[in-house]
Amino acid sequence: MEENSPLFCPYCGGARLLEGEISEVPLGQQSWIIYQWNCEDCGEYFNKVVIVMAEGETRSLQDLWE
Ligand SMILES: [Zn+2]
Repeated sequence: MEENSPLFCPYCGGARLLEGEISEVPLGQQSWIIYQWNCEDCGEYFNKVVIVMAEGETRSLQDLWE
């Protein structure tokens, strides 16, 4: 299951979506991954931001709290 992909355009409900650029912004222990889509039906662009923990950083995060 592709959790990060929208099924429908939030503006018009169309399902013909083109995936655009994916930007990754590292912010300390986490990264913001910004997905961009373009709807072929109405031409709108929209984004989704997914915040993920950097790989292997779980231990470091715990260390911060000691
Ligand atoms: Zn649309």
